[in-house]
Amino acid sequence: MAMPLSRRLLLRSTLSLGVGAAAYAAGITSPGWASEEHPTTGPTPAEALAWLKAGNSAFTKGRPAAYAFDRKRRHELAGGQHPFATVVCCSDSRVGPEQIFEAGLGQLFVIRNAGSTVANPQAMGSVEYSVEHLGVPLVLVLGHSNCGAVKAAAEVVEKHIALPGSLGEMVAPIVPAVEFVQPRGGDLINAAVHENVVEIVHALRSPRQPILAQFQRKGALRVVGGVYDLETGVVEFIEA
Ligand SMILES: [Zn+2]
Repeated sequence: MAMPLSRRLLLRSTLSLGVGAAAYAAGITSPGWASEEHPTTGPTPAEALAWLKAGNSAFTKGRPAAYAFDRKRRHELAGGQHPFATVVCCSDSRVGPEQIFEAGLGQLFVIRNAGSTVANPQAMGSVEYSVEHLGVPLVLVLGHSNCGAVKAAAEVVEKHIALPGSLGEMVAPIVPAVEFVQPRGGDLINAAVHENVVEIVHALRSPRQPILAQFQRKGALRVVGGVYDLETGVVEFIEA
């Protein structure tokens, strides 16, 4: 069942009031919307991005979240999910995407690992699944200030050390970003955090991506980056 026009207009108007992701949560308590597995009408990439921005803005203001998080919502979601954004982010305990975007149960499809990489089939396939199967219109690659995984990659580059266990392989995808920004001088870690996000966004936007490229060509998918500031709680979006 497609989302009725009135519902879309309601969501647009609540968004224009700056209610953001919390309003979206209230809006999708409609059973028809929540149980759709292959929705034909959902938010546009621009709407989804605006909801993330509004959610982060509310989070930084310390406003209490009003999203649906109760038993009723859980039952609705048991029949199917329709997250409005996919977030590829760091496992760091301080960067919980549902919290920093004030998103409720069933709203965000999240892929987490140290360093926010998609350099393995599990992570990349998860992104593809969210777009191809769940119809997610927006993918956000989210790094954060002072990232430990990026610091480890910087140690590998600067001190030529080999990390034990699987840690070396884990940070290997981040090493090119460190090497790219290192000659510039300045704050190596935060420059590498930014560059790592840019490179992952670039990889996800590649026309060679077998699934993601076709959705981006149709305008049904947008891939953007962001860096979360641990101190301020603000996400700086990287859209270009
Ligand atoms: Zn991190």
